[in-house]
Amino acid sequence: MGIIEYEIEEIRKLCENTVPNSKIIACLCGDSPLVRVDIHDNSLHRQLTVCLRFPPEYPNDSILVELKSRTLSLKFLDSLARLCEKHARQHLGKPQGLHVLRFVQQYIHENPLCVCFDEIQELRRDLSANATPDLLKLKQRHSIVQLTAKGGEYYYKLNAYIPNEYPKQGVQLQQQESNLPPILVRYLNGQSCEIARQCVEPPLRVDKNDQAAFQPVPSLYRALKFCLEATSDFDVELCPICDKKVLPKEPSQLELDDTKDAFVERVYCGHLFHQGCLKHYLQQPPFPKSGKLCPAKRRHPRSDAKFYVGSASGRQPTVSADTGGRCSIRLAHDRWVVNVKLAESRWAQKQARERELQEVLDFLK
Ligand SMILES: [Zn+2]
Ligand SMILES: [Zn+2]
Repeated sequence: MGIIEYEIEEIRKLCENTVPNSKIIACLCGDSPLVRVDIHDNSLHRQLTVCLRFPPEYPNDSILVELKSRTLSLKFLDSLARLCEKHARQHLGKPQGLHVLRFVQQYIHENPLCVCFDEIQELRRDLSANATPDLLKLKQRHSIVQLTAKGGEYYYKLNAYIPNEYPKQGVQLQQQESNLPPILVRYLNGQSCEIARQCVEPPLRVDKNDQAAFQPVPSLYRALKFCLEATSDFDVELCPICDKKVLPKEPSQLELDDTKDAFVERVYCGHLFHQGCLKHYLQQPPFPKSGKLCPAKRRHPRSDAKFYVGSASGRQPTVSADTGGRCSIRLAHDRWVVNVKLAESRWAQKQARERELQEVLDFLK
């Protein structure tokens, strides 16, 4: 029996007992000997097939490793195959097959984040312009990706836990720390979870056929990219009324008292306002019957209206011709309901007082 036949016999006898969660698919001797083994790791998506071939100079040359998977990305499999061959070279001159199989099993067991390898690469690419390595940390042992999104001096840090059934089950997000105003932190928390949910649950408003045809998509990148973009935009966003930056440059200067003019509000259309500017605007005419409209020059890219007013197909609501390219979504906020009648009568009272004052002034002349 040749050295290769002997090794294949060894693998046939020992593989399933010594490599956890492995299953032999083929052990072929003959002209082109090969071994094919399935390995999985308690997860639908952490599974792959290892194919081992023996080069003519084997075992003085390293064993050839080919990895296939219906779930793991090609880029990940390529990188892992290279690691395997490097590992095999440590055992030149001796049998390498079982070493490689154990190495693969251990690798996918210890690196649960391999199921979102491509998404992590994409996040790294998005971060690369201003990235220090601590903005994206991988905690493989806990299956957690930790991201810190930044905008100027502001940051928003969150943990993204990748569950066993990922991507069928969505990423689970948990905010860690932030120095943004609480209203924006709540928005980031809520909206990022909503994006992750929409990746794995069909929309309620579509018909039964569309619901049945719904396929979950990976949610990590989509949810985290949203946090990155929104956090970086908050820092440069201008108040649509005074045209100045809505957040102070220094987070220590943030107004946390919600009765003060500099307190920041986020309204339904997505725009951020200084509370003082917004109040002043709401108290000025005109008072259209349908309510005051947002005066910002364009629609906000992350308007809530996009999610809730938009059609089921996910198209953005079209801006009607008479808005002149403005945001023009009705100003609404759960903290204060804009009552047009009240604003109108207050305005009339104020005008009346000013008229009286003018009459007094005229009288005194
Ligand atoms: Zn303002
Ligand atoms: Zn607006």
